[in-house]
Amino acid sequence: MNAHRHAAEDAATEPRLLGPSEIRDLAQLLDVTPTKKLGQNFVHDANTVRRIVQTAGVQAGETVLEIGPGLGSLTLGLLESGASVIAVEIDKRLAAQLPHTAAIMQPGTVLTVVTDDAMRVTELPGAPERLVANLPYNVSVPVLLHLLEHFDSLQSGIVMVQAEVGYRLAAEPGSKVYGAPSVKAAWYGDWRTAGQVSRMVFWPVPNVDSVLVGFERADAPGTEAERVATFALVDAAFQQRRKMLRQSLGTALGGGSAQATTVLETAGVDPQARGEQLTVADFLRIARAV
Ligand code: SAM
Repeated sequence: MNAHRHAAEDAATEPRLLGPSEIRDLAQLLDVTPTKKLGQNFVHDANTVRRIVQTAGVQAGETVLEIGPGLGSLTLGLLESGASVIAVEIDKRLAAQLPHTAAIMQPGTVLTVVTDDAMRVTELPGAPERLVANLPYNVSVPVLLHLLEHFDSLQSGIVMVQAEVGYRLAAEPGSKVYGAPSVKAAWYGDWRTAGQVSRMVFWPVPNVDSVLVGFERADAPGTEAERVATFALVDAAFQQRRKMLRQSLGTALGGGSAQATTVLETAGVDPQARGEQLTVADFLRIARAV
C-alpha cells in the first residue's frame, strides 16, 4: 500500500523536462563535452522550453519537426504538449540516447529520431506541419532555407537563433540589417521576431545573445526555376551591397552595366538602387526580365 502511494507521488513530482541536474547527469552518462563546431549549447530551463512551445502554438496531435534535439530539452516540451515529434540530430551519441530519455520522462509519447545532417535530409518519416528548434547557430540560415525548400508540409515555425541572425531574417527592405537571408526567407513567407532568450538558460553559456524568430508560410511567389534565378541575383546584389544594382548585377545579368540597366528598367527597378532597398518581389521581377 505504502509502496504504491510512494510510486504515485513520485510519478507526480518526477520532472518531465530537463533541468540543470538532469542535463549534467545525461552529459556525464554519455560522456558528452559540448562542441562549438556543432553549436552545442543545451537549454536547462523548463520555463524557457515551455515558453518556446507556447509561442510556437504547438497543438496536440500535430507533427512537429525539431532540428538538433541535443539532450532533449525542447523535445520533451514538445512531447509534453501532445505533439508527435520528428527530431533530426547529427551527433550519433545524442541521437541514440534521445528515445530512452523520452521513454523515461514522457512515456507513451510519439518520437522518431533521424540521425542525419539537417542540411542534407530530403526525406522524413512523416509530413511535419510545424518546425520548432533551437538551431545550431553556425548553420541556422542554411538549415532553415534547406528545410523550407524541401519540406512543403512545413506551414509555420518558431526557431531560436543568434540574435543578429534573427533580426536579419525578420528585417524589412531599407533596414541596416536587411540582407540576402532576409530576401530569401521572405520567398517562403512572413517572418517576425518573437522575443529574446537569456544566455543563462544554456549550458555552456554562449557568448552571443539569442532570439526567437517565427514564420508563417505563404504561397511561393514564383516557380522553382524562378526561385533559383532570384536567389542568384540576391547573392550577387548583396556581395557588393554598397554598389548600385546596375554594377552589382552586371556579371549576373550577363553583359556588364549597360545590359543590367536595360534588364532593370524592363523590370521597373531603378538601376541606381541598391539591393538593400528591394523586396523579394522586385528581385523576382528582375529574374523574369532577363
Ligand atoms: N535542442 C537542444 C536544446 O535546446 O538544448 C540542443 C540545441 S543545440 C543549440 C544544437 C543541436 O544541433 C546540437 O544537439 C547539435 O548536435 C545539433 N546539430 C548541429 N549541427 C547539426 C546539423 N547539421 N544537423 C542536425 N543537428 C545538428
